[in-house]
Amino acid sequence: MSRQRRSRNATVIRPRHNVLFSYVFPLLMVVLVLFLSINIAKLQSWMGLVPDNEWLRLDFIDVGQGDAILVTSSTGETLLVDSGGRSQEKRILSFLRDRGIANLDYVIATHPHEDHIGAMAAIIRAFPIDFFYMPDAVNNTAAFSTMISALEESKAVVQEAREGIVLAWKAGKITLLAPFPITSATSLNNSSVVVYIEYGTTSMLLCGDAEEEVESRILTKYPTLRADLIKLGHHGSSTSSTPSFIDHLKPYVAIVTCGTDNDYGLPHRETLQLLESRRIELYRTDTNGSITVYSDGTALYAETEK
Ligand SMILES: [Zn+2]
Repeated sequence: MSRQRRSRNATVIRPRHNVLFSYVFPLLMVVLVLFLSINIAKLQSWMGLVPDNEWLRLDFIDVGQGDAILVTSSTGETLLVDSGGRSQEKRILSFLRDRGIANLDYVIATHPHEDHIGAMAAIIRAFPIDFFYMPDAVNNTAAFSTMISALEESKAVVQEAREGIVLAWKAGKITLLAPFPITSATSLNNSSVVVYIEYGTTSMLLCGDAEEEVESRILTKYPTLRADLIKLGHHGSSTSSTPSFIDHLKPYVAIVTCGTDNDYGLPHRETLQLLESRRIELYRTDTNGSITVYSDGTALYAETEK
């Protein structure tokens, strides 16, 4: 965690350089002061955070223990990845309305666990949706059946999410890197849709609750894959985010979505130690609240609710 982020909630997040930094430290400090003073001016108001021209914005919405990620662009496109749990219905609906969302171009239900789809029926009923993607996986729960009922009553075009699908998204490129064909042994977590977003030279990977098995299949299929930001799989569980996956992707920002004092002890200590040892900047919804990340195509900017 950088010092400037502790003192204020908004900052520009950039990769860290070790050796160079020690050689050019004085010069960097001058540049940093100038840079920060410009950006502090930029960041003084909420609107000031918005890059001037074209941008992509990701909101990792604090829905306690669960996932809800809103992706929007300066070109007006909208994608919601997961809804959070049923107990978060009011919060997610008011977040979307407060953001001025009138309709959703895409909604992705990463996998049929309650903490990802519990509020989905309410969202489907509240907002017109063009395309709804979900994996070929079912769950014998009220959350799943109410989501399906809501979909049947909606005009959304429902599509099966599969590895390799590219969404018709203009602001950059959005590719589904998972799920792979599901076998009887596939756990629901490993049926997760994994969403890869490229915008300018920046890239972001949203892993749902995918675990080690899916991570290694992704690396096999996409050997040159990189990501500046990763929304860690399964809320920072040690069954996801293996060292080989993280070292391959080389992210400099990680997001953990989890509830305060959650029953599962997430994120796991091994995951936190891995991020620490690789000097990856961590943001987490239990301590930071909702997290907003902007890309202007070359750098990432973050602002946290707390
Ligand atoms: Zn989950």
